[in-house]
Order: sequence, then structure tokens, then C-alpha cells
Amino acid sequence: NMTLPSTFFKAIIHHSYLIGVFRVCLIALKCVCPLCANHTCETSADGACWNSVMLIDGKEEAVKSCLTSAEMRGQIFCYGSRDVSKRNCCFTDFCNNETLHLQPDRPTEEVGWGRLQWTVLILGLSSLLCLTVLLAVCVLHGNRCSYSRAHKQDPEEPLDDQTLLSPDKCLQELIYDMSTSGSGSGLPLLVQRTIARTIVLQESIGKGRFGEVWRGKWRGEDVAVKIFSSRDERSWFREAEIYQTVMLRHDHILGFIAADNKDSGSWTQLWLVSEYHEYGSLYDYLSSFTVSVEGMIALALSVASGLAHLHMEIIGTQGKPAIAHRDLKSKNVLVKKNGTAVIADLGLAVKHDSTSNIIDIPTNHRVGTKRYMAPEVLDETINTANFESFKRADIYSLGLVFWELSRRCSTRGFHEDFQLPYYDMVPSDPSIEDMKKVVCEQGLRPNIPNQWQSCEPLRVMGKLMRECWYTNSAARLTALRVKKTVSQLTVTKDMKD
Ligand code: ADP
Ligand code: MG
Repeated sequence: NMTLPSTFFKAIIHHSYLIGVFRVCLIALKCVCPLCANHTCETSADGACWNSVMLIDGKEEAVKSCLTSAEMRGQIFCYGSRDVSKRNCCFTDFCNNETLHLQPDRPTEEVGWGRLQWTVLILGLSSLLCLTVLLAVCVLHGNRCSYSRAHKQDPEEPLDDQTLLSPDKCLQELIYDMSTSGSGSGLPLLVQRTIARTIVLQESIGKGRFGEVWRGKWRGEDVAVKIFSSRDERSWFREAEIYQTVMLRHDHILGFIAADNKDSGSWTQLWLVSEYHEYGSLYDYLSSFTVSVEGMIALALSVASGLAHLHMEIIGTQGKPAIAHRDLKSKNVLVKKNGTAVIADLGLAVKHDSTSNIIDIPTNHRVGTKRYMAPEVLDETINTANFESFKRADIYSLGLVFWELSRRCSTRGFHEDFQLPYYDMVPSDPSIEDMKKVVCEQGLRPNIPNQWQSCEPLRVMGKLMRECWYTNSAARLTALRVKKTVSQLTVTKDMKD
């Protein structure tokens, strides 16, 4: 006997779409955000302020922040789930200032049908009243009216935290939910926090620029946890922000799961949770194993595809900005079990919005790993006002990664040992000056072995890397071109011997 409520809700939804038609002018909002600079965040024109509280380990934890328009479309932010969480979206400046609380233990009496119908009736009537008032306000003032978006959800299929985190959910399903929830930009913050806080750390698996990477278990499955110290909060925030860029998800970009900041009294632990890849980095993999021609093509193709996706700008409300990695190297590529790879460590990435021509963070000239720096980065002639420059510097690094990979390709029993680029030209921890001398002044590049000429895929890889590491950055190939060329490589029977 659910026809009454659903008819009511459908009527409400229909009305709210109508309101959408009258929406004229949307203004960005300022909201309370304790984790942001100045404790304030600003939404895009279509966003909302968000206020929520959830029960975690028996304690109420409140989150206040901004919601992007994409998150609003994600349908899960503006609804609470009974007494487990309460959340609220609002649409005026700093309207999320109030701190929400969950109600103390509610009596668990059965809710009768009469009461439910009354509730629905009262809710329906008051919503209609509100909508009418809002409609009038919108038409009269042509002003901010984002209310409709929060109500485009199908009430018969609410996708709330409990549904997202139901006990039988595995990671793959969660990630699937994440990509189909409509926002395409990550799980709700409270779900991320709940996941992070139920991970059991197992062993340390890597160390890089920031903190340490651990293998952890979540519901019996492996996950990777990158732990930043509170000193590196900006890096943690930045990397989490980049991973949650709308439409970033891709087979060949490390699958982000959650970010969490846990205050343990005197210090804050900052976590970034991602999919775990047991083979580790491409650097680790190539140090131990050689690859077949097919294996080399699969790895090269996936790195090029991941980079092409990062670099690509997708226009539209569900679009993605162009992103440059700025620290591409074999240690920042991870090898998957199926023999393909993902690009990881987006902590230094920069985003570009072509309509405003704004690069989202101030860019200093020399970031990344010295060994992999393009000549124009080393001598600081890079034109940072043009976003293409950052993409071209990535392509140079891609050429070096291809060189490391191709050396380990074994054909007819022949392959080279594993080496880092310029291993024979610079000391083991080269300075900028060491690199500049070799790469800029002498114009040297890694050696391409003669043997590669007799194996077509290796010959093509050699040609590709040369076209990636030209001194003239404008002459370098694009990631899309590299991807297309690698995708056309084929393996013949004689290469398998
Ligand atoms: P940093 O920013 O400190 O360089 P990275 O994200 O590059 O951190 O991780 C450092 C190392 O940890 C990587 O080179 C890799 O060996 C390992 N690692 C990172 N993420 C994962 C993962 N998801 N699965 C397996 N190993 C990982
Ligand atoms: Mg790294």
C-alpha cells in the first residue's frame, strides 16, 4: 500500500523540475568548512552548503563543507538515514553554521500505517507549500533557487550511507556505486571516513616524498593507505582533492577510495586510501622481472592511456579539467595483477580550466623528481603561463619511463638489466646541476640499443621515446598520439620464442 506516498513524492518531483525551468541566475555560496583555509569554502554556482553528523564509534562526528553541483547530483548528500546520520543541504551563505545532533535513543515502537500516512500527508502538504513559496520567489526574483536539485532523487531507491556501506558490500561494489552515483567524484565524506576507520593496517609497503604507504585490510580485502604527517596536511588535502576531480576515474589511474583526517589528541593522522596493487610500482616490478613483448605493450599502452585521460579536458557540467601530473616516473606507476598499469601519486598535479585559463594552484618552476625533469624544467625556461607546457613536460618523463620498460622486454632471450634513465651519465642522487649539464648543455638522452631495430614493437618504442624527449617541447608527441601508436603494435609469433 505504497501508492499514496509515491504519488505524492512524484508530484513533488514534478513540481521541482518545473522550478528548475524557472531557475535563472545562480550565485556561488560561501559555507562553513573547518578543514578549509580560513574555515570557509566556496561552492560553484550550482552547489550547496553541507552540514551533517554521523555516529562513529558511538560518538557524534560533525562535518561541514561545500558541495559541488556534481555532488548534489549524486543524490546522497542531502538525506539522513534515520538515527545513524543526519545531513542537511542549504543554499544561503554560511547557512551550515549550526551544529547538528542526532536524537538520543528513540523508542523502538512499531510505526503504524495510520501514523505513516499522516506523516506523509503533512510532509507532502508542507513541501507543496514550501515549493509554491519557492516558485513564487524564483519567478519574482530570478534568484538563487537550487532546491530542485536536492529532490531529483527517486524516493523509492534512496542511496544513503547505510545502503552504500551495507555489510555485504565489497570494494568493487562500492567503487561501482561511486562511479554510478551520478557525482562521479567520490564517495560521500562520511562514508569515506567510516571506511577509513574500519581499516586494519598490516605492513608498511613503501616510502616516498610524503609519509609512508601501508597495506591494510578492509572487510577482508587489501587496500593501500598512504599516511601523511600533520606537517604535510596540504599535500594530503591536495592529493585527495585531485583524486576526487569529477570524471577522473579511469582503468589506468589509481582507484581512490577514501580520505580521512583522524585527530588523535595531540596530532592528526591524515590518510589516503586507494586500491592496493600487490606488484607495487613499475620500478619494483622491472627491477625483479623482465616482460614479454605483449607484456611491454600492455604496460606501455596503459600508462599512455592513463596519461591521455589525465591530460584530456572534457567540456560540460559533468566534464573534467585537463590535469598535468608533474612527477611521472616508474616509481609512480603501479602494476596491476592483470599486467596493465595505473598512474599514481597525484600529489603534485595541476588542473587547468580552459574557459577561465586558470591553473588551479600557483606553480613553482621546479617540482618533481630531478632525474625525470624535462630540459625546460631544469633550466627554468618553461612557460608556466601556458598549460600545454606542463603536459609536454609529462611527455618527456613518459619517454623515460618507456625507455626503462623497453629495456626489460625480453625477445629471443635477449634483454637489458634494469636501470634508471641517465644511470650511466649522472651520479645516483643527481643534483639539478648534474642533470642540467647532461640534458640541457650536452643534449644527451638515454641510449637506444641497436638490437631494438630487429624487433618491430621495440623499434617503434625507440622511435616513440625519441619523439617524447625532443628538446623543443612543442615538437613532442601528445599522450593521445603515443596511445594510438602503441595500440597499433602487434606481436608476431617469432617474438614469442
Ligand atoms: P609519495 O607521494 O610519498 O611518493 P606514492 O603514492 O608515490 O607516495 O607511494 C610511494 C610508494 O608506495 C610507491 O612507489 C609504491 O611502491 C607504493 N605504493 C603506493 N601506492 C600503492 C598501492 N596502491 N598499491 C601498492 N603499492 C603502492
Ligand atoms: Mg611517489
